[in-house]
Amino acid sequence: MPANGTNENDLQEMLATVHGDKQRLELILAEAIQTGAFLQGSRFPTERAIAEYTGLARNTVRDALSRLANRGLIVRHVGRGTFVSTLPQRQRKGSDRSDDANQWRGQQPSPRELVEFRSECEPALVPMIVMNASDDELDELEHLALKGRAAATWWACEAADAAFHAHLFAVTHNSVCFFIGDWLTQARRGQSWLALKQQTFSFQRWGSYQEEHETIVRHLKSRDINAARKVLRNHLSHVQGWVGG
Ligand SMILES: [Zn+2]
Repeated sequence: MPANGTNENDLQEMLATVHGDKQRLELILAEAIQTGAFLQGSRFPTERAIAEYTGLARNTVRDALSRLANRGLIVRHVGRGTFVSTLPQRQRKGSDRSDDANQWRGQQPSPRELVEFRSECEPALVPMIVMNASDDELDELEHLALKGRAAATWWACEAADAAFHAHLFAVTHNSVCFFIGDWLTQARRGQSWLALKQQTFSFQRWGSYQEEHETIVRHLKSRDINAARKVLRNHLSHVQGWVGG
């Protein structure tokens, strides 16, 4: 099986959760593409492998793959096989923006650039979160943080981390922050970020990130700006150390 960001065991494990439900198959595969479990441009698992691991009929799997292709998530090349689409999310759904910003969309920031920006920008969200986020939104943030405990693969941990940080931006109630957060989430689906994450992943490191996430939530819930900002800053400097300055 060629490297596509997920190994045979991960694939088997992921597809075992389909439980013979064909709608769920499409949902799980689409989610795996969108969260970056399958790297952009990499070879997509074969119809045969998917049928084998899910127990679904080949024609059922073929239907699901056709729908993913129609959604622009995968691309089929006759004679070469099926690949994960390399188009950014927005372009897949049909972009209505034709402005100059498009020229930047195809370019992926490096992991170092991403973390450098995030370590300055995310701590600055804390006062807005403390002042504007509702108790329900902070409960949701806690829920997202706790979900990370159950993550059993590198990409599930990456997806949990991305969802946690995206929510920090969203609950500021500031539309600029929201859009930046959304953009950063997209950027984390880029190949350079995911490849680095996959290659260097360790559950030990994830365990300490997980603890930091939970501490951040605790301080945000007690509306303690200084404590939350300090832990978030430390968290991001650990991430920065991982990327390697
Ligand atoms: Zn994190």
